[in-house]
Amino acid sequence: MSEPIPCKSTIEPLSSYFNLRTKVDVLRLDLVHPVVSGNKWFKLKKYIEEAKQGQKKLVTFGGAFSNHLLATAAAAQKEGLQSVGIVRGEEPAILSHTLRQARSFGMELQFVSREAYRQLHYPGNLPANLPGDSLVIPEGGYGYPGARGAEAILAENETGVYTHILCAVGTGTTLAGMICSAMEGQQLIGIPVLKNAFSLRKEINELLPSEKKDAFALIQDYHFGGYAKKTEALLSFMNDLYSRSGIPTDFVYTSKAFFAALDLVRNGYFSEEDKLLVVHTGGLQGNDSLKKGTLIFD
Ligand SMILES: *Cc1c(COP(=O)(O)O)cnc(C)c1O
Repeated sequence: MSEPIPCKSTIEPLSSYFNLRTKVDVLRLDLVHPVVSGNKWFKLKKYIEEAKQGQKKLVTFGGAFSNHLLATAAAAQKEGLQSVGIVRGEEPAILSHTLRQARSFGMELQFVSREAYRQLHYPGNLPANLPGDSLVIPEGGYGYPGARGAEAILAENETGVYTHILCAVGTGTTLAGMICSAMEGQQLIGIPVLKNAFSLRKEINELLPSEKKDAFALIQDYHFGGYAKKTEALLSFMNDLYSRSGIPTDFVYTSKAFFAALDLVRNGYFSEEDKLLVVHTGGLQGNDSLKKGTLIFD
């Protein structure tokens, strides 16, 4: 993007709040923008550069609670580009908070049935009424441009001291970017938030050069039932994490990554000499769909 992102991310300690012997720090990408999820700025960067060059309209996909859709809407407005969001499912009587916000950023929403949405596979069957000057961003920003943009995440801070870097994984594009920009010997760990994410390893490998293929771990035990699923234990963990550290998390992505990080440390996955960096990928707006009072922060 032409302008720098609004503020820089910072690194904060986490282990001292939990009496952990392995050093654990947090990279706060959630601080780069008040509304828009941290990693999404990075993933959208290259797509937006391309759209600006050709004065193209941004077209992308997502569900009613998609951080990616909202981030695209906000980034498009900021860069003076038009945006279209193709939303999975018929238009509801009451729009989700996410979709209302996306619309307020000027995004044109097109609702398609779940069936039709499934058929819409870039670069294939796009809706016939899309203008010819559209730049289509795959769902979740998955793809080379997304991963290239995410390479910048680790470069903004002093991240070279960490032996392990861990983050929540949806499409894996963010993880792929960090795998590419990690230093020799750094181990990347992804925590998939989807259940049965069997094709994920292959999809991530497709974004990596041959020497980096399979140079990462995916730990599939922390999805808490699947995408956007939650348990009482997860919600109390989020409140406990916040009351100890002041770090807010969302129930779709980052709470699962933090839960995994602490659980792995306690179960001896790391040695005492290891230094773990948990990447807080942002996305706090997802909590707006929770009942008021569920969380002690907002
Ligand atoms: C979208 C999102 C992710 C997943 O990013 P991928 O690059 O799709 O793996 C992780 N955390 C948050 C907060 C997100 O909004």
